[in-house]
Amino acid sequence: MIYDDNNIFAKILREEIPCKKIYEDEYILSFYDINPQKKIHALVIPKGKFIDLDDFAKKATDQEIAGLIRGINKVATKLDISMDNGKGYRALANIGEFGGQEVPHLHFHLFGGEKIGKMVH
Ligand code: AMP
Repeated sequence: MIYDDNNIFAKILREEIPCKKIYEDEYILSFYDINPQKKIHALVIPKGKFIDLDDFAKKATDQEIAGLIRGINKVATKLDISMDNGKGYRALANIGEFGGQEVPHLHFHLFGGEKIGKMVH
């Protein structure tokens, strides 16, 4: 599969469409989901062109991988949902058709601010 430069998150990264930004550094951008499923629903995306977690695992540099994982912690801390200053959260990545992925740019959902409930429903 080839990365689609016109996916909605690519457009957000190029600032062609707006987002409610939470955090940004050289590796990631984080913003609020437009259709929140929980009290807090943030998205964390790598700045590189990666379709999904499998693509990222194969093609990202070690720095990009560390940047994304550390970035998730930075965002969670900023939102006061991390284990440092909150009560925890769920980080979730949908991958491909069976995983229910709609936007073909790797993203982690961070759900928090309340009990998230069952793992899969
Ligand atoms: P997924 O099903 O894992 O691909 O999730 C895609 C997510 O992107 C959904 O939760 C959407 O609500 C969210 N989304 C779609 N368009 C936007 C947008 N313009 N800004 C913020 N979130 C968006």
